[in-house]
Amino acid sequence: MIIKPKVRGFVCITSHPEGCFAHVQEWIDHVKSRGPINGGPKRVLVIGSSTGYGLASRITAAFGSGAATIGAFFERPSEEGRPATPGWYNTIGFTQAARAAGLYARNFNGDAFSDDIKRQALDAIRADLGQVDLVVYSLASPRRTHPKTGAVHKSVLKPVGQSYTNKTVDTDKGVVSSVTIEPANEQEVADTTVVMGGEDWEMWMQALSDAKLLAPGAQSVAYSYIGPEVTWAIYKNGTIGLAKNDLERAAKHIDSLLKLNGGGRAFISVNKALVTQASSAIPVVPLYIAILYKIMKAAGTHEGCIEQIQRLFATQMYNGHTPKFDEAGRVRIDDWEMRPEIQSAVRQIWPGVTTENLATETDIAGYRTEFLKLFGFGVAGINYEAETEPHRPML
Ligand code: NAD
Repeated sequence: MIIKPKVRGFVCITSHPEGCFAHVQEWIDHVKSRGPINGGPKRVLVIGSSTGYGLASRITAAFGSGAATIGAFFERPSEEGRPATPGWYNTIGFTQAARAAGLYARNFNGDAFSDDIKRQALDAIRADLGQVDLVVYSLASPRRTHPKTGAVHKSVLKPVGQSYTNKTVDTDKGVVSSVTIEPANEQEVADTTVVMGGEDWEMWMQALSDAKLLAPGAQSVAYSYIGPEVTWAIYKNGTIGLAKNDLERAAKHIDSLLKLNGGGRAFISVNKALVTQASSAIPVVPLYIAILYKIMKAAGTHEGCIEQIQRLFATQMYNGHTPKFDEAGRVRIDDWEMRPEIQSAVRQIWPGVTTENLATETDIAGYRTEFLKLFGFGVAGINYEAETEPHRPML
């Protein structure tokens, strides 16, 4: 089958196996090029390990400090004549490379919110690794079936309290327009916190602790975003931001649990805004990202997921470093994004962006390139005219 991108709004419904493998290899090469991470993790569980920041965490752990990794993720498998979602191929690519390097890698595709996937992952840790010394929590999900009640909760990306009007871009069509988003109701606010808040992270950590599967001094990190004022109504002060506040609450609770376990710690790392499947679904944010990329590339400070997480591990968590926390106890690996000169440049460009000048005022081309790469398209060295087999077994 010859596989081409089929973009529908903010998703691409196809993905390319060899392209995904090559994209993963680029990330592995980056981590290797930065050299070993001394004192880095050795036995790691990554929840949400197949794409974005979670995949970058798994690759950094494996190829930065030789970690054995267990990954949990939720991807649509490939079928005869039908490609999988890209995280499926990313995981196969990662697992092949890890095992070729002599590293243990085991995968669980299923709902990480469920008791069943937790049990399977815990059984694998007990049987194969004994304990873990790092747990990365990097889920981005539109819904959660609560394991205790069976209720299905859906997350929404809406402002809270009042409607919000701002510019947005249709990244596929290149059209800039004004969008008004009505505020979430109370139920939507509560549901978004059930999905994207900290309860599930706490459940994972409590289960690991109860089963004595956390090595003394084990750490755990989850990811969040804050960003500039132009996005606050939809992000920081919106439904997702309130859910992230709950994630911060959970971080403090888990931190106290881990402190008692041989002086470990749990914390939130606030990461940079980047093109991922999760972020492309948020209104307004893709336009901000397209402007941000242009400015940060010009300043020589642009990073992708892998550069962000390699820097997090190498300069905050390991290599003889301890995390430098902000006033709220968070690590700020979004520091380069939030530099005053970068943000003032964004503020200057934002009001004047139109459909007509989108290509010159923003890095929409870079946005699209990155977006397609998430699905394995536009990766150097891949012949997209060649036949490929979409149906690949999970390793
Ligand atoms: P992503 O969509 O690339 O990755 C999400 C991961 O979660 C995938 O591995 C997916 O398979 C997995 N997943 C989703 N639902 C699942 C389920 N029910 N069970 C098991 N696995 C499931 O997203 P991302 O952008 O890398 O986001 C990861 C975290 O980073 C989120 O907490 C997000 O808020 C945060 N973050 C993202 C950005 C950004 O700009 N993308 C910035 C800062 C922080």
